[in-house]
Amino acid sequence: MTVRAENVTVRFGGVTAVDNVSLTMERGQIVSIVGPNGSGKSTMFNAITGMVRTAAGSIQLDGARIDSRPPHRRIALGLARTFQTPRFDPQITVEEAVMCGFYPRKACSLFASMVRTPAASAEEKTFRERCGSILSDLRLAPFRDLQMSELPMGRVRLVEVARAVANDPKYILLDEPAAGLARDEQKMLAYEVRRLADQGVGVLLVEHNFNLIRELAEHVVVLKEGRMLLEGTPAEIASDRAFIDTYLGR
Ligand code: ADP
Ligand code: MG
Repeated sequence: MTVRAENVTVRFGGVTAVDNVSLTMERGQIVSIVGPNGSGKSTMFNAITGMVRTAAGSIQLDGARIDSRPPHRRIALGLARTFQTPRFDPQITVEEAVMCGFYPRKACSLFASMVRTPAASAEEKTFRERCGSILSDLRLAPFRDLQMSELPMGRVRLVEVARAVANDPKYILLDEPAAGLARDEQKMLAYEVRRLADQGVGVLLVEHNFNLIRELAEHVVVLKEGRMLLEGTPAEIASDRAFIDTYLGR
C-alpha cells in the first residue's frame, strides 16, 4: 500500500519546476519534503494530487497508475490534501467547512438529500457525528458555529486539516500545515498527524519547521532548484553538509 512517484518532471513554459524527482510513501508512514522557497515542493505535491500535469515520470497509488486521472478521481481513491493557503468562503461556519470534506464519500444523491429520504438522513447523521468527533480531536469544537472569517489563522489551518481528514483518506498530503500556528497549535497538529499515521494513513508533509520534521518524519526528501539533493532520516539529513548549506543558507 504505497504512493510511488517515479522520475517526475513538471515544466511551466521554460521553467523546470520539478526535475526527475522520485519519492515513495507507505501507509502509516510520515514522509517529508523540505527545501528552500521555489525548490519545487508544492509543485511535486500538485503533481501527485493531479493539480499540475507531469511532463515525464509516473505516479502510482497502491500499484495503479493515476497520473492521467483528474484530481477528484484521485481524491475518491483516498488521496487527500491541504492547501498552503486555505481558501474557505468567509461566511460559512467551521462545521460547514468540515462537512464539505465528506462530499466525495457521499453515497446518496443530491436529490435524495434534498427530499430527505431515510437513507439520506441516516447518511447526514453519520457525517455530522463523524464531523463532531473530528472537531473535538482537533479541539475545534468550541468554534463549531463561528464563521471562518472570525477564526484566527492558526485555527483556519486546523479546519483545513479537519476537512481533509473528513474524507477518511488512505494518504494525506499537508502543504506547510504548521505555518502561522502558535506553539501549542503546532503541538496539537503534530499529535494529530502522528495519530493519523498510527491509524495507517500515509502522510506527506511539506514543512519549513525542521523541529516538526525531526519530531514526525521517518524519511525526508530534500529538494533544491527542482532536483533531489539528498534523502534520508531526519538525523542523516540534519548532519549532511549539503543540507546545512542549502537549508540554513550557509
Ligand atoms: P516551493 O513550494 O518549494 O516554494 P514551487 O513548487 O511553488 O516551490 O515552485 C517551484 C518553481 O516553479 C518556482 O520557480 C515557481 O516560480 C515555479 N512555479 C510554480 N507554480 C507555477 C505556475 N503555476 N506557473 C509558473 N511557474 C510556477
Ligand atoms: Mg510551496
